[in-house]
Amino acid sequence: MKIYYENDIDMEILADKKIAVIGYGSQGEAQARNMADSGLNVIVGLRRGGSSWKKAHDDGMNVMTIEDASREADIIHILIPDEIQETVFEQSIRPYLKEGNTISFSHGYNIHYGYIKAPEGVNVTMVAPKGPGAMVRRTYLEGFGIPGLVAVEVDATGDAMEQALAMAKACGLARAGVLETTFREETETDLFGEQAVLCGGVTELINTAFKTLVRAGYQPEIAYFETCHELKLIVDLIYERGFRGMWHNVSNTAEFGGLTRRGRIITEETEKEMDEILKEIQNGKFAKEWALENRAGAPMLKRMRKLESELEIEEVGSKLRKLCGLEK
Ligand code: NDP
Ligand code: MG
Ligand code: MG
Repeated sequence: MKIYYENDIDMEILADKKIAVIGYGSQGEAQARNMADSGLNVIVGLRRGGSSWKKAHDDGMNVMTIEDASREADIIHILIPDEIQETVFEQSIRPYLKEGNTISFSHGYNIHYGYIKAPEGVNVTMVAPKGPGAMVRRTYLEGFGIPGLVAVEVDATGDAMEQALAMAKACGLARAGVLETTFREETETDLFGEQAVLCGGVTELINTAFKTLVRAGYQPEIAYFETCHELKLIVDLIYERGFRGMWHNVSNTAEFGGLTRRGRIITEETEKEMDEILKEIQNGKFAKEWALENRAGAPMLKRMRKLESELEIEEVGSKLRKLCGLEK
């Protein structure tokens, strides 16, 4: 596996290019500011009347409508929520694309599942930081970065990969390392990771363990600290030193208990279900479900958000985080 670092990448290729960052949210703000601070010619494309317009303007960015930005730029980097990209692309970006332009993304979703199809002669690339926008910006300002992925789906001009790498470098990603991937691999692994572990798996594991302790009569505050708060300390150890470093740092009792019990938590059935979840990502079933949900105005998501906000662990957690000064 080839990993690109700062010295492997020449940003000269972008010297005469104008880059439009569409969207100024989590990724848009971070990537636009990093690329601008790295000396690139960045404009920000937004809809009028949204809350981002003022923010980007106050940050000193060159702000214009999505239509104007798409018309002016050579590279249109699309950083608005995935579920609205298709509509915004058709209405406000596609009509202004010219041969030799590049459209780029931080997630392969819309290209991989075919919701966005680039016109003939237009490059399709990906520059994807492997972390939230706030981290992309913070680590950049600290003089480092977070790792990132680059991919090329369509190389119309022959230098699409060089462009993507240069953008990744300007975002600070090459300080930590940039890996090459494909739209398919990035999209499918990203969805699987967030469903099985990062967002879906971990919240369910925490909440189920929390409820088990509370049901057994333990104080909810104690249950929260044990099943949620301490998780960060463990994850930090795994992040920095792997499983081995984590096992080394916990007590022998924790190590023995963890190793003998974990197979009863994640069972063969869980593994089969993970295969099933991955299959639904690969065969497009999940994407179809999400598209239908959005077409209907996201009723299920709204209902689930409400239920989630009413969880006991959320009430207890919010109270404790305030007491600890973690949350305002
Ligand atoms: P955000 O939800 O933070 O994007 C918000 C931005 O999109 C705002 O500037 C908002 O403008 C604009 N926007 C929202 N709706 C519309 C609309 N209907 N028309 C025009 N503009 C609109 O997105 P993220 O940064 O989370 O995600 C952007 C991309 O990055 C996605 O492809 C995502 O998968 C990818 N990504 C995200 C990561 C993350 O950490 N969040 C990590 C890695 C990749 P306004 O103020 O006007 O509403
Ligand atoms: Mg994701
Ligand atoms: Mg303990």
